[in-house]
Amino acid sequence: MRRHLLSVDDLTREDIERILGLAESFAEVSGREIKKVPTLRGRTVINLFYEASTRTSSSFELAAKRLSADLVSVKAQGSSADKGESLKDTIQTLSAYDPAALVFRSPHAGAAGLVARWTPAAVINAGDGKREHPTQALLDLYTLRRRAGRLEGLNVWIVGDVLHSRVARSNILAFGRMGCKVTVCGPPTLIPRGVESLGCEVQTTLDRLGEADVVYALRMQHERMHGSYVPSLREYAARYGIDGRRLGAAQLLMHPGPVNRGVELSAEVIDGPQALITDQVESGVVVRMAVLYELLAGGDGMPAPGRGTERATRAPQPA
Ligand code: ASP
Repeated sequence: MRRHLLSVDDLTREDIERILGLAESFAEVSGREIKKVPTLRGRTVINLFYEASTRTSSSFELAAKRLSADLVSVKAQGSSADKGESLKDTIQTLSAYDPAALVFRSPHAGAAGLVARWTPAAVINAGDGKREHPTQALLDLYTLRRRAGRLEGLNVWIVGDVLHSRVARSNILAFGRMGCKVTVCGPPTLIPRGVESLGCEVQTTLDRLGEADVVYALRMQHERMHGSYVPSLREYAARYGIDGRRLGAAQLLMHPGPVNRGVELSAEVIDGPQALITDQVESGVVVRMAVLYELLAGGDGMPAPGRGTERATRAPQPA
């Protein structure tokens, strides 16, 4: 794996398998009363978020803390960005603390790649505009494999606002790499032109939704819409909303959150047994622990926690 995690394209299938395996080891740590290992003791992780976040920021914080790193969390609101400091100056300022990793979220596509050029730290893209969100895709793979027992051959339908969704882009790549068949579905105005080149099929109605093993619903990303893409949310919900009538009994349901209840999903399916939405949130911590470990401690062939080596016996000890 490369020094940074900017895109799912940075990961081979073997890299993904290794990260999912590491996450399994960390799940064991998360089941303990003291959910902490000393792996990153003395190293610094900085979370820099220029856009709203609940799940991603809190799970990266917990992941860094459970690995015993020193953690600094900076939100753009209330930081010197409000005083007009440029992104480059902010990155250079924070780099003065010698962070091992910088977790970065921005409303601008490609911004994480720029940050990687300005800091010696390993940069993890925690969402850059509508471009990518690679750790979301990894935690989705992890969650789905745990529930379904496999990924190879699964038929995944990603439904909704594909055009503005970084989750859709990262997940088309990630599910495809792990051998799933991916279909994206939504109103034609919300399907990006040429999306098939990422390795998926396109549908503009839910008529064939019954073929899916997994329905992955997306939120309408209003914050990235300039103009109107659907006649009304009511009309959208009527044509593309997933409810108990549309979701088959054997189908699994995923959503990256936050969910707009009554728009892309009805309350009955959100809270139903086929939904993996809470599992996805839970997986966020162990998968992000695995990514931090892989980038900061796993590079030189260092063995994973719990695999019968010096580090293995050391890592699971309480810090
Ligand atoms: N939480 C995901 C993201 O940050 C999905 C969403 O916001 O709808 O991209």
